This record gives sequence, C-alpha cells and structure tokens, in this order.
Amino acid sequence: MFTSKEEFKKAFLQRLEMMFGKSFQDSTRREHFQTLGNMIREYISSDWIKTNEQYRASGEKQVYYLSIEFLLGRLLRNNLMNLGIENIVYEGLYDLGIDLAEVEEAEADAGLGNGGLGRLAACFLDSLATLNLPGHGFGIRYKHGLFEQKIVDGYQVELPEHWLRHGNVWEVRRADLAVQVPFWGKVEAVSEDGCLQFRHINTETVTAVPYDLPIVGYKTKTVNTLRLWSAQPSPYPVNKDVLKYKRETESISEFLYPDDTHDEGKILRLKQQYFLVSASIQSIIRSYLSTHSSLLDFHKHVSIHINDTHPALAIPELMRILLDEEKMGWDEAWNITKNTISYTNHTTLSEALEKWPIRIFQPLLPRIFMIVDEINERFCKELWDRYPGDWERIEKMAIVAHGEVRMAHLALAGCYSVNGVARLHTDILKKREMNLFYEVFPDKFNNKTNGISHRRWLLKSNPGLAKLISETIGTSWIDSPAQLERLIEFRDDPAFLKKLSSIKKENKNSLAAIIKEKTGVTVDPSSIFDVHVKRLHAYKRQLLNILHIMHLYNRIKEDSSFSIYPRTFIFGAKASPGYYYAKKIIKLINSVADIINNDPDLNDQLKVIFLENYRVSLAEEIFPAADISEQISTASKEASGTGNMKFMMNGAITVGTLDGANIEIMEKVGEENIFIFGLTADEVLHYYQHGGYNARDYYHHDYRIHQVLDSLVNGFFPDAEGEFEAIYDSLIMQNDQYFVLRDFASYVDIQQKAGEAFEDQDRWLKMSLMNIAKSGHFSSDRTIAEYANDIWKIKATNPMINS
Ligand SMILES: *Cc1c(COP(=O)(O)O)cnc(C)c1O
Repeated sequence: MFTSKEEFKKAFLQRLEMMFGKSFQDSTRREHFQTLGNMIREYISSDWIKTNEQYRASGEKQVYYLSIEFLLGRLLRNNLMNLGIENIVYEGLYDLGIDLAEVEEAEADAGLGNGGLGRLAACFLDSLATLNLPGHGFGIRYKHGLFEQKIVDGYQVELPEHWLRHGNVWEVRRADLAVQVPFWGKVEAVSEDGCLQFRHINTETVTAVPYDLPIVGYKTKTVNTLRLWSAQPSPYPVNKDVLKYKRETESISEFLYPDDTHDEGKILRLKQQYFLVSASIQSIIRSYLSTHSSLLDFHKHVSIHINDTHPALAIPELMRILLDEEKMGWDEAWNITKNTISYTNHTTLSEALEKWPIRIFQPLLPRIFMIVDEINERFCKELWDRYPGDWERIEKMAIVAHGEVRMAHLALAGCYSVNGVARLHTDILKKREMNLFYEVFPDKFNNKTNGISHRRWLLKSNPGLAKLISETIGTSWIDSPAQLERLIEFRDDPAFLKKLSSIKKENKNSLAAIIKEKTGVTVDPSSIFDVHVKRLHAYKRQLLNILHIMHLYNRIKEDSSFSIYPRTFIFGAKASPGYYYAKKIIKLINSVADIINNDPDLNDQLKVIFLENYRVSLAEEIFPAADISEQISTASKEASGTGNMKFMMNGAITVGTLDGANIEIMEKVGEENIFIFGLTADEVLHYYQHGGYNARDYYHHDYRIHQVLDSLVNGFFPDAEGEFEAIYDSLIMQNDQYFVLRDFASYVDIQQKAGEAFEDQDRWLKMSLMNIAKSGHFSSDRTIAEYANDIWKIKATNPMINS
C-alpha cells in the first residue's frame, strides 16, 4: 500500500478524488476522515484474510466472546497506532495542511454500550488480537448507541445518538453470511425413524446480517473479527401486515438499552438477546462445519464466552442445534454444551439479576423454552439426588421457578467456568450470592480481575506520559506492561519527577481549555483536579461527593480563617432515562456548581464542573488530567470498576472505599499511596443482615450533615424548589441504603488528608509515580492471558506464520 510519507500523500489524494469526485481544495474534514478510514481498512484487509485463513488451516481452538455491549469509542488513532503507521500518516497529512487530531474528531464514537461492561469487552478484543490469540467478538449493530446527553438548566436531556449517520468506514457488510432467526410460532412433535423430534413451525423469521469489523493487534499481523448483527426483514413474511413486520423486525437492532443495572422487562430486550445468541451460534457452527465433519468434538475446538447473563440463551440455543439439527441425544448434547460455555458475572445487585416471566418467554421462544424447562427438570433432579428432601434449597436454585426463568441460574448450570471480576467480588459470589451453586460446583468458580488496554488508556490517550516513560525505561512496557515497575527506580530522581509534573500540568491545561469551551467556566490548572466520572448510580455515590462539596462551601463561607488548597471537582455521568433518583443527583450537582462557581467569597478555592455526554472519547481527555480519582462506591457494590485502573495508570491517586478492584490497587501501590476510607464490605453486609444502622442519628449528631441536608429542602437552591426532597427522603426516611451518611465523616477526613498531601508536591509526585509503576498488573493483557490459560485453554498463534 504505502511505506513512506510521499506514497501515502499520493494515495490519499487519489483516493479522496475517487471517493468524492472533487479536488483536495474543496474537501471537508469529514471527507478527509472517510478517505483515510477507507485507506486504512483496505490496508488491514490482507492481514485480516490471512489471519482467517491461518485459523482455518491450523484448526486451533477459537474463542467467541458474546456481549450485548461493545463500547469501542473511536477506532482511527488506535488502528494507526497498532499498524505502526501513525507517524507516516501524521506527517503526510501535516504536509497537506491537515491536522490528524482534527480528522480524528470527525469520527463518531461507537457507543454500543453503557459503561464498564461494554468497555471491558472492547479492551478484551484489543488484548486478544495483540496477544495473537484466536478470539472474536459477537454483538449487535445498534443503529443508535447510548443516547447523547445534554444538560439544559441543570437537567439531563437525552437525544438519540446517530453514529451511523455518515456510515461506518471500518465495517464490511457480509450479506452472504446472513442467517435466519425464528420467533413466535409453535413447536410440533414428530416421529422420525422411531425417534421423537421437535420442529418449530409458523415462525416469524428475522434475517440477521453480519457487519464485520477488523480488530487489529498492536504491531502484529493478527487481525481478529468483531461481528455485529443487524436485524432485517426476511424475504417472505407469513400472514402478516408487512409494514408492521418490517418495523418490528428493524426495531431489534435499533436501540441499545440505556440501562446497565435494571431489567427493563421488555419483550424487545429478550428478542435482542435471542437474536444475538442465535445468529452468533449459527454462524459459529456453520464456520466449524466447514472444516469438521461433525460436532462431536465441538467443545474441544470452540469456547463460547458470555459476558454477563444477557447472552445466556447461548446454552439452550446450542442444545437446540445439537438436538434438533444434529439429532444428538440429550446427554451427549449437554456434555458438549456445558464444556463449551463459560460465563462472567458482573454484579451482585439483586435488581440487576435477569429474570424473564414465562408468559413472555414461552410464546416468543417456544422451542427454547422447552429446552430450558428440560434443563431445569434434570438439574432439579440432580439436586434432589444430592440433597434428598431439601425442597427449600432446590427451590432457591431452580432455573425455572415462580413463573420466571432465572438467567444467572441457567448460566451457572450450563457453563464449565464462572468468574467474578475482582477478588472481593468473586469471594462474595462464592460465600454469599452464589454460595449454593458454589457448594455444588466449587471447581467452576474462579476470579479474573478486570483490566484495561494500556495502549488505549495510556499510549494513545496520554502521549506525553507515554513518551516520558519510553524515554526513561525504553519501550518494552508497551508489550509487557509489568515493565512499568522499572519506573520505581526513578522515585528519587528530581529531574524525572519534574517532567512528570509538567506533563500532568499540560494535560490539565488541555482539559481546562475543553471545560472553558464546553461550560464557559474558567478553571485554574494549578488547582487539584478531583474527578468523578462513571455512570450515575446510587451505589457509586456521586451524592457523597457533592454533599462533601456542599460542606466545604459552608465551612469557607462561615469561617473566614478557613481555607483549602484550590480544588476543581469534575463530574461526568449519564443517568438511565428512567432512573428518576439518578437524574435528581445530576440536577443537584449542577445546582451546587451554579452557586459555587458564581460566589466571589470563595476566592476561586472551589469550582464544580459537570461535563456533559461522558463517553469514551471524552474519557480519553479526562483521565490524563486527573489528580484525584473518586472511587467511592458503597463497599461490596462495585464488582470491579475499571475507571479506577485508568486513573491510576495516568498517575491520579485514588480516594476510595475497600471495594471491587480498589482493594487490589491498594495491595499493589501500598497503603501510603492511596486514600482509603469508609465501611468495609463485611461491615456493610453485616448491617444488611443484622440491621443496626440509623441514618437519622447521623443527621442529628453531626452538625455538618444536618446543615448540608437541610439546604436540600429549605429553599437554599432558588432554582430548584422541592427538587431535592427525594434525595433528602432517601437518606432520612428510607434510612440511606448506600450508607452515605455513615461514611460522610471518614470521607471528609480522607479528603482533607488528600488535599494536604497535594501541597507537598514532592510526596505527591512520588505517589503518582508509584501508581503508574504498579498499573501494569491492571492491563487487560494480563486479564486476557489469565482467561486464555485458565478458562479457554487457547494458545497464541505464531504471528510469523501469517506474515
Ligand atoms: C471505563 C469507563 C467506564 C467504567 O467506569 P467505572 O468507573 O469503572 O464505572 C464507563 N464509561 C466509560 C466511557 C469508560 O471509559
């Protein structure tokens, strides 16, 4: 294609004219992006084909990662970097008077996810390809990703997102590989050669069309595939109003559900789940049978991973194909299935455990329901043999009970591996949430602490820091992130610490410019940037943060001798549109910001910023500029967190509870390099079990809390009369389920300590250095290597073979 800047420029200009039929002078930034994207996709294609050929020829075991979300963000810069052509392209465009950074802005974020779960899937794809592992993603090509958030008068307003408006340069539509997914209808039993067989008839069929995206590994020739399914009408709908059928069909891949914790209870959501699963499994089997004569050894050559329970119907779907199409017996089919599927649990929040009412499930998926019912019958029978007479236990563990299908139980019964996403989380699964299953299947349970792609979250998004690291310890950390530990040697090197400090300062300057542009507020880059970015949820306790800010405000106003080191509190968070309480908290943050940012008495000691539309591309601007990372969930509630890892890797210091992966972060960096406060998970769980917490006592006995909570309801916010009563009630009337008031005092103390630590810049920079140095463990390369070795049993292919 091109191997030099000059070749690139020539090819770029030719391609631009060819694609848009106009001269370079008249072309727009979007056209530059489209041209470049098109060239890069083509650049990738020969390695993509070779990788697929090699996988087919070698017969290596393949992994398929099924996820209802892939939060990819932008792909241009990542692809350039991974292909090793970033410099050629940057310089070539520069010669033409084009800034690559501006071209990048023309790419829409692929926001096919809500938060951590979807971003994890994206980081995993990056690591799989980079480690030359044969692992591919399957997801849904939602026409509209997660909504675009606007803040109007302090309230969240949701606008539909339209990432495909100008097409998607990375995808390849593979209409030749479309499959049919059946819904509704009924099941007919027929006798074939003396055997009872089942046929699903009178179905309403949807066509699943795959769109493939290449997943390029970092400086390797491996190019894996992310296959996203789009729902389209099938050619011959039966007995149906054609327009209605078309509308219903297309709605399956229309919207991502803007919710990552509550089960919306919608038929459409179940349709989406089966659509993803059925299309993916059919596609996997079709590809398998192109090189194997039967499915008898399927599980030895294929692993199918389900990212949470949304794709758990993979279990009955694989059974269906083995039973009805391959005509296997039950035991044989079950043996293959339960040795193929592995499962990751992402939460212990009970409201997030998926359960489908039979009255919805059975008519929509009649044959799948029969199979689930049979799995349940046999599972309960086994339990009966093991625990004769223990009805209570069997009822608790059943897959189908009380008119519902319990997806987590289906996943647990039908997989060979279940993992939690941080050590504490896995322990809670084993000891509490899934203890009954752990007793029956102790060997299935294992932990895989989450990770993040250090290439996207450091090398790409913080080029200044990445350069300093490479100049200091060489570039080996890019392939082996554990090498970052070598930075520890430079702990006492003033020249290094000075550079570290000036890089942070530059990143803060850039973020300050973004804040100015987006909000009009001027923030001081030498103030502490204290950052809380993640989905808005009660358990993540953005409320604790804003109540503390209100308290600081009160203190400064009341006591003219009191002062603090200047702080800029930065928030970014989307609330699920139906999550009333979360939206109140967004409004509260904005109301507090309004008062604080406009009060001259504060002498710029405090600023509060809410950045709208938090998403991957914005996150990439925020993490490099953070001094403090807010990870203050109610202990036991955050399964792992991955934002905490991105902050650490960019040199921010965590203020956090002993929750999720914060615990492992503390063990790595040492207690002196993190600010830990609040209840432990055991203490929280003890309160839940035995009671003993009375939030009202904290209101009455802590003057600071009293004052702050009163201002929620006493007219303190002139623009928000009656607005915050729900928040007040949740804390006082409903006894503060998330222990915000219980942890308030220790949060105030730790925040004060953090502020004081910052004033000693030498100490702070050393803390920052330690966080960067120890962050290699939280690379998704480490996580994926563990999945590959312990769960999937897959090996790296030799990248030299496909050169
Ligand atoms: C990393 C990331 C998340 C997850 O953040 P947590 O703090 O772990 O909840 C959510 N959204 C985006 C855009 C991210 O990049």
